[in-house]
Amino acid sequence: MPEFLNREDIHAFRDLVLSLSGQDVSRCIQCGKCSSGCPIAYEMEHLPNQIIRFIQLNMQEKALHSDTFWLCAVCETCSVRCPESIDIAGIMDALRKICRERGIKPGDSRIARFNEIFLDSIKRNGRVYELGLVMKYNLATAQPFKDASLGPVMFSKGKLKVSPDKVRDPNSVRTIFSKAKTFIASKLKD
Ligand code: SF4
Ligand code: SF4
Repeated sequence: MPEFLNREDIHAFRDLVLSLSGQDVSRCIQCGKCSSGCPIAYEMEHLPNQIIRFIQLNMQEKALHSDTFWLCAVCETCSVRCPESIDIAGIMDALRKICRERGIKPGDSRIARFNEIFLDSIKRNGRVYELGLVMKYNLATAQPFKDASLGPVMFSKGKLKVSPDKVRDPNSVRTIFSKAKTFIASKLKD
């Protein structure tokens, strides 16, 4: 006798994404406009509309083990192009949050490392400290001189600073991180 899933189980993943991002993938008509405009699509394992389809079909494993949302640059091109006004970039963010909370890492460990160092920089300073990020990432990935030739040019144009340019109240940013963590954990527990 085959086992039948009830309505809640069938839509469990869609509902989780909805609760974290506020975006309902049921509205997606699979037109593909998000993927055709994505500047990173050529590097992605699955196209953005395929990720949306996995969520619609409750294919958690497939969606959460794709590298697509780790590579997403959050440029929001997909979100502004979507005829159903779905914020796909927000969904990509929700998938990253789920993976971070569940300890699911992308296949290429450099992606996870970059993500951790980037978020840590924002948590400490309230904004990204580019020089620190580059140095930490290069050391963590054992390529200390990667892109070193670009440094002098970026310094001369004021794009890199020697010390971090902190926001006035970095503690308020840390509070946001802490509240977000509690919020995500509570949704994943439901
Ligand atoms: S653009 Fe919107 S409706 Fe079209 S496939 Fe992407 S998410 Fe779905
Ligand atoms: S937000 Fe991410 S998925 Fe959307 S177009 Fe930009 S890179 Fe692609």
